[in-house]
Amino acid sequence: MIKISMHQKCIKCGENYPINQIIYKCKKCGNLLDIVHDIEKLKELNLKELFNKRWKSRQFPFMSGVWRYKEIILPVEDKFIISRPEGNTNLYSSKNLLNYTGCKWLRLKHEGENPTGSFKDRGMTTGVTQANVLGSKVVACASTGNTSASLAAYGKFGGFKVIIFIPEGKIAYGKLSQALAYGGMTFQIRGNFDDAMALVQEASAELNLYLLNSVNAFRLEGQKGIVFELLQQLNWEVPDWLVCPGGNLGNSSAFGKGFKELEELGIISSPPRVAIIQAEGSNPLYLSYKTDFKEHIEVDNPETIATAIKIGKPVNYTKAVRTVRWTNGTVEQVTEQEILDAKAQVDGAGIGAEPASCATVAGIKKLIDTGVIDRKDKVTGILTGNLLKDPDATVNYHMNKIPNIKPTYANKPIVIDANLDALKRALKKSTPEQVQIVK
Ligand SMILES: *Cc1c(COP(=O)(O)O)cnc(C)c1O
Ligand SMILES: [Zn+2]
Repeated sequence: MIKISMHQKCIKCGENYPINQIIYKCKKCGNLLDIVHDIEKLKELNLKELFNKRWKSRQFPFMSGVWRYKEIILPVEDKFIISRPEGNTNLYSSKNLLNYTGCKWLRLKHEGENPTGSFKDRGMTTGVTQANVLGSKVVACASTGNTSASLAAYGKFGGFKVIIFIPEGKIAYGKLSQALAYGGMTFQIRGNFDDAMALVQEASAELNLYLLNSVNAFRLEGQKGIVFELLQQLNWEVPDWLVCPGGNLGNSSAFGKGFKELEELGIISSPPRVAIIQAEGSNPLYLSYKTDFKEHIEVDNPETIATAIKIGKPVNYTKAVRTVRWTNGTVEQVTEQEILDAKAQVDGAGIGAEPASCATVAGIKKLIDTGVIDRKDKVTGILTGNLLKDPDATVNYHMNKIPNIKPTYANKPIVIDANLDALKRALKKSTPEQVQIVK
């Protein structure tokens, strides 16, 4: 493979840093860094054709939905690559969800189909690969759950020691169980996610831990694979909208950068408009958007049942603002009721996803209702995590056990005696149109 150079660059002051320097924020101005690729050199490679040739490849590392796009993600030697392999997630269309959202054309890409059940695996494969390139031995992150599940798996798979910081209490059970199962050393912080994030940043500097939160620019490179693969699944035809949830804003940041690079490479002529959806109780980007980003607003005590987006001080704020500007995008917020009803619809369509993912569908419905998205627009949405991640949210909704939430689409278990008569009686009462009784 030909050598393709990369370097790190501050998004604010433009200061450059070598690609293998361990650095997360600009030394001069404290802002976030980008990985910069040599676009002119990459143009010579005819990447679209190369990516198409690798589609459904069984060859390492190209069978991964991240490393298929290696040249524009992280062109390192194959021997360093730690891959499960991730990606290759399905794109779903559903009549039920067309009805629910009001769209005429909708595709949902299910990133919950990744090895540990969330899109975080796409960033983690590039993150731990870079840790490997750098010769780091210990990797660390703060997490609302899925990042720790992913880091624990990828870290252990790659032979690292893994240290995890999670907020006290409300971490979804599926995620906590993964972190413990894979053997991540897990610290439960007395405080919320933002407190855990502050601690891990301090600790990584002092204790020589390689930090794998999305402040790590190498992780965001891998997450671009979501939209590269999405576009490839659509034969590189660009939809009108891409809708995703926003928490720490790593994903939305990665999408903007990925689209920009595809544009510069001449693979697409313009990006889809990116809509970032937040929960009403955890909406710092939405509040800032409402001031036209003149004010950078943070939320002190974020609250939402969608724990993956329960973040009041998103570290990738500036990059997400860039995505909204570059793509003529938008930011919307949705209520807890809207998230959970959308989840019941996504689940009931036989697709299924965790609460934060369903903010995407709730957001699409809202943006159609308010006329921001036209019914005729082609809409794509990202489902970020697997249904099984948060069984409590699902069961409590259907059992009417969530305070102040109406279980609009409840599917309660029906208790009956163990005999056929009881069953027939119950069937007649509940869903006669769905179950035919022949005798
Ligand atoms: C991490 C995560 C999010 C939020 O993504 P950001 O990149 O932090 O904005 C949303 N949904 C799920 C399931 C997640 O794991
Ligand atoms: Zn700088």
